[in-house]
Amino acid sequence: MMCGTTRREVIKLSSATLAALSIGNTALHSSQLLGQPSSPASEHDRTTPSSVMAIAAHPGDAFFAMGAPVALATHQGGAAFLLSLSLGERGSSTIPPAQYGAMQRDATEKAAALIGATPLFLAYRDGEIPVDDEASLAVCDLLRRHKPATVVTHWKGSWHKDHRACHEIVQNAVFYAGLPALARENPAHAVRQVFYADNWEDAEGFVTDTYLDISPVFEQYSNACSMFPMWRGETGFRYNDYYSSRAVECGCLSRCRYAVGLMSAAGQSVRNLQAL
Ligand SMILES: [Zn+2]
Repeated sequence: MMCGTTRREVIKLSSATLAALSIGNTALHSSQLLGQPSSPASEHDRTTPSSVMAIAAHPGDAFFAMGAPVALATHQGGAAFLLSLSLGERGSSTIPPAQYGAMQRDATEKAAALIGATPLFLAYRDGEIPVDDEASLAVCDLLRRHKPATVVTHWKGSWHKDHRACHEIVQNAVFYAGLPALARENPAHAVRQVFYADNWEDAEGFVTDTYLDISPVFEQYSNACSMFPMWRGETGFRYNDYYSSRAVECGCLSRCRYAVGLMSAAGQSVRNLQAL
């Protein structure tokens, strides 16, 4: 990763970038506040396989904006999950929602198989994902069951209400999942880190602070995305061109062939030093 990067740039990028998705230890850390993602990973953590869960409002978001980190996790030997809170069944102006929802589910399952990830679904109606405790606890339960170290989800600065809802639900779900005193079917699980995905619909206030080299899985990621007709622009936006171009742009900026930009959850990039 980071081919050709200078030493100064390595220092700048190291804490978040190298830690990005290479974490397998899911135990609660003594310094971690209950219900909160922990501080950046230790050197030891960075050598272990990752487990990643992408949590998106719609399957297209899960794959186009979050699928590459998921594909990288499975490529590196980790477990990975793609959770869609709805099927995005209202995303076509010509195909009825019931039929389009079935197509979306089918595409999701095929695409997930191509990158070795497990697809997960909640059955909220597209456009009507509620921000409530039922949704937050449903996601909490999936976090506790599958125990991802890393969660990738929507940034809150979105024009799409489902994306904003998903962001809020995930904040609450990570909090609930990490609370040992909150009794659910499975014991508490502390998510180690949360990243927000670079999504053309969630661009307001989005600031990339982490680049993840996805060169080894870029083709696999593209093939998975192509399971969705909308990837080729059939619903009016050229997803393929946009996300492929972004991967090249981020690759240029981080000295790799292809990369994705991620934004860390608040406080996650704080470093505790004993000397400068
Ligand atoms: Zn969406």
